Amino acid sequence: MSELSEIKKKLAMSSRMLFNAGLVDYSGHISARIPGSDHLVILPHPVSRATVKPDDMVITDFDGKLIEGKYKAPSEVNMHARAYRARSDIQSVAHLHNHMIATLSMVDKPFYPASSNPGAFFGPGPLPVYMDPALIHTIEQGDAVAKALGAADAVMLRGHGSMVVAHSIEWVFAGCVDLEEAASRFYKASLLGPVMIYNEDETQRVMKQRRKDSVVQKIWDHNAAKTELAGLMKGI
Ligand SMILES: [Zn+2]
Repeated sequence: MSELSEIKKKLAMSSRMLFNAGLVDYSGHISARIPGSDHLVILPHPVSRATVKPDDMVITDFDGKLIEGKYKAPSEVNMHARAYRARSDIQSVAHLHNHMIATLSMVDKPFYPASSNPGAFFGPGPLPVYMDPALIHTIEQGDAVAKALGAADAVMLRGHGSMVVAHSIEWVFAGCVDLEEAASRFYKASLLGPVMIYNEDETQRVMKQRRKDSVVQKIWDHNAAKTELAGLMKGI
């Protein structure tokens, strides 16, 4: 299988896995850079995230212009495109309208690591927040999201959701799962009292145990199996 075919297959799988995990519905998307190029592969605008196939994927440049594909790209493709343009270390990007992160982004309260499995994946300190609630349609808006992301692995989009980035599709998928679970725990804990957030040393120590290829692969394999059992892997 060629490298591009492998990328398209992993994107179709991860889209269905994100759907099965409740992290995307009719919108939300995951993409990957075509290594060594200024092009990206992303699922198309109109096809269900639950049934998208490798051959449905479209290719755009880093200005969001369609290069190849039978469908149009998602309307928020420039969020992906400009993140790749801004950071050469990023190989995959996901944009989620994830419920708990969107909820936390609606209050003026920083979201810190505070639980050890999910919750310390993204490093010490509060997660950055992009404050403009408008959907990300233009190159300028994509650049502004990339600026808010900075050197981080995820950024909350106020009232909207999140963007997660990493050096592989598997790492982005694991990040998406961890981010939403961490937000869910943080929200529930905050109802009970002040959240005991991790300090820098605590975050670094749990991060060391969490940010590993073996852990990321375990999260991927578990979700792939769950999605297969749900009957959602047909045609890949
Ligand atoms: Zn969006």
